[in-house]
Parts: sequence; structure tokens; C-alpha cells
Amino acid sequence: MFKAFLIKYGEIGIKGKNRHLFEAALVQQIKYALKPVEGEFSITREQGRIYVEALGEYDYQETLEHLKCVFGIVGICPVVIVEDEGFEKLAEDVISYLDHRYPDKHMTFKVHTRRARKNYPLCSMEANALLGERILEAFPEMKVDVHHPDILVNIEIRKKINLYSEVLPGPGGMPVGTNGKGMLLLSGGIDSPVAGYMIAKRGVKIDAVYFHAPPYTSERAKQKVVDLARIVAKYAGPIYLKVVNFTDIQMYIYEQCPHEELTIIMRRYMMRIAEHFAEETGSLGLITGESIGQVASQTMQSLAATDEVCRFPVYRPLIGFDKQEIIAVSEKIGTYETSVLPYEDCCTIFVAKHPVTKPSLKVIRRSETHLKEKIDEMVQTAIETAETIIAE
Ligand code: ATP
Ligand code: MG
Repeated sequence: MFKAFLIKYGEIGIKGKNRHLFEAALVQQIKYALKPVEGEFSITREQGRIYVEALGEYDYQETLEHLKCVFGIVGICPVVIVEDEGFEKLAEDVISYLDHRYPDKHMTFKVHTRRARKNYPLCSMEANALLGERILEAFPEMKVDVHHPDILVNIEIRKKINLYSEVLPGPGGMPVGTNGKGMLLLSGGIDSPVAGYMIAKRGVKIDAVYFHAPPYTSERAKQKVVDLARIVAKYAGPIYLKVVNFTDIQMYIYEQCPHEELTIIMRRYMMRIAEHFAEETGSLGLITGESIGQVASQTMQSLAATDEVCRFPVYRPLIGFDKQEIIAVSEKIGTYETSVLPYEDCCTIFVAKHPVTKPSLKVIRRSETHLKEKIDEMVQTAIETAETIIAE
């Protein structure tokens, strides 16, 4: 029965010029999200509202699922839009709407009329009372409850009239593209895809970089990262994923530095390379899936040692999350099943039995001097030979 959806979005902080940008970005993200859905849609902006209208046959459920991935959407209201042809016709439309939508009428309701144009002959209060009466006459099983109704029958009087009684929750957040761009360090684990999702939710467009170590990490491990990027892209929009061949750098560190410092030094090189790409492509920060104390390389001391090599801010949206909380988000967004596929990860291959948990910056810097002969050239080669994959 529904051919259209009324999209509700948060309005705080989007006054003036920002509002226009916010709405334009939201429309663009809705278009992107609906691309894979069968059917044609028209998306229009009208008086602070966004409408998604199906132009022919379409799959209601699938459309809804895709709209639920668009950040910035607070509520999705399946809506019936009718012409204003007088009050009698409106009353008939409302009754027919309720009849189709709610086959079982044993419920309480309240009518909520809003006039976006003041030239409508009835005021909101009068319309509420008159429509309420008509509904009670048509469906004696229904009862009015003005405090806690089972359904709120919304009537919005605009150029046309909107009827709706359901507000399905959207993901909230801000439309991707309204808050700059960040570079996500994406591994095949559970955490980093969740970190990317959370930053994108704040309106940040994301690019990603993955450090691949063939032959120690397989093609399957790389494919898994691409698959994760694709799932995150359902929410974040297309992701440009750089795949960096990290093997030589990793081997060189392994040969030249104390093994218990390997992870920290490796992570410092990942950050340096990620920052290079960030700068080149206009990102304003790095994003990782770290959380304090999760592993040896995520103690406060280790995080400080990784940060030391970055000029850009490093965003760690999971910093205060427990693993269970991260897993809950990854299940909700659909990355969990892919993340737990058991392929090797470049960090696990060379890990020391007893990695340092409180690295001293002085010691780490000194160890890195053992790399001075070849490391700059290796970093340069890794940057130049990186492959770019568009995940969407
Ligand atoms: P994840 O589940 O995200 O893999 P993790 O608990 O395995 O996290 P680490 O391996 O210590 O943690 O990595 C911490 C963060 O460093 C990751 O969340 C990710 O942002 C980044 N990272 C680690 N390995 C890689 C890699 N091979 N390529 C890109 N980024 C990586
Ligand atoms: Mg990992």
C-alpha cells in the first residue's frame, strides 16, 4: 500500500547554510544506498522534508533495509500521500488507510494533525477532533488514548496531505560527506571495520589501507579485507582501499630489531605509510580499531609510541569499548561473520612470545636506527607499488 517514505532527520546544528549541505549529502547517500535495490525511485526535497518515492514496482522490505543503512536518517515513515480535495475526502482516505494498514482494529489511537500551510480551513485541533470522531464511527473497536496510544495517526497538511502512523528507526548520525575524510587502517579483524563504521556515522567519508604480507598472508586473507570494506561501504559509501605489500618491511624489522619490539615498530611503520596516503588523498586523520589494554600493542604506553610518528590526529572510536561491546556492533552491522573467518593476519605471524607492553620511546627510537640503511627506500617502494581497490 505504500509507494513512498518520508525521511526524518536530526535537525540540531544544521541551521542556515549547513542545512543545505546536510540535506544534499543525505539525498546523495540515499541514492547510493538504493542503487542495488530493484525498481526506480525519485528522491525529492520539499519544505525541510525528504521523500523517497517508488516510481513503479519495488520491494518494500528491501528498500527499508537499505534506507536503514543511511547515516543522518533518524526515522523512516512509510507514507500515503493524497491530494487535498476537501475534508470529506480526507476522512475517507484516513479510514481507508487504517483499514488496510491495521486489519485488527483492537487498538488505541490518537490523531495528530499538523498544518504546514495555514490556509487550510480547519485548525489542527478541529481536524484532530473531527477525524477522531470519523474513525470511531467507522471502527467501533478502536479507542482513543491521548496519553499512550498504540498508534499515532499523523496527518500533515502540506501542498499534498501526508498520512502515516509508523516511524521506523534509522541509524542516526550524520550523512557521510558532511565531515571531511579519514584514513582507516583496515585489517581482517573484528575491530577495525567497526571503527570505520563508527567514524562514518559521524559524517566522515573514509578511505582505507590494508597491509598485506604475502606469502605469509594469503590471497584469501586479502579478499576477506576487501569483503569487509564492501560491507562497511553499504553504510559509508564507496571505499578506496589501498593494499600495501608490507612483507619486505616486516622481514627487515624482524632481522634488525629485538623481536619483542617487532609489533610496536611495525605499527609505527604502518602509521607512517597510512599517513602518507592520508595526506596524498585529502584525509584529515587516521582511524584504527584499537581499544586500551586489549593486547600488548594497545597499552597506553604502546599507543603513545605509535602516535609519536604521526602528525595527523589518530581517531580510535573503540578506545573505551570491551570486546563484547565491539562484537555486538559488528553483529549488528553485519561484519562479524566475515571477521571471524580464520585467515592469518600479518600481525600474528611474527609475534614475539613476550612483546613489550610498556615500550620506552627512547629504546624504540634507538632500535629503529638499525633500519636506517634500507628502510626509507623500502617505505618508498611499498607506497609506489600499492594497489588501489574500490570497494562498493
Ligand atoms: P582488528 O580486529 O581490527 O584486526 P586487533 O585487535 O587484531 O584489531 P591489532 O592487530 O593490534 O588489533 O591492530 C590494531 C589496529 O591496527 C587494527 O584495529 C587496525 O586498525 C590496525 N591494523 C592492524 N593490522 C593491520 C593491517 N594488516 N592492515 C591495516 N591495519 C591494520
Ligand atoms: Mg588485527
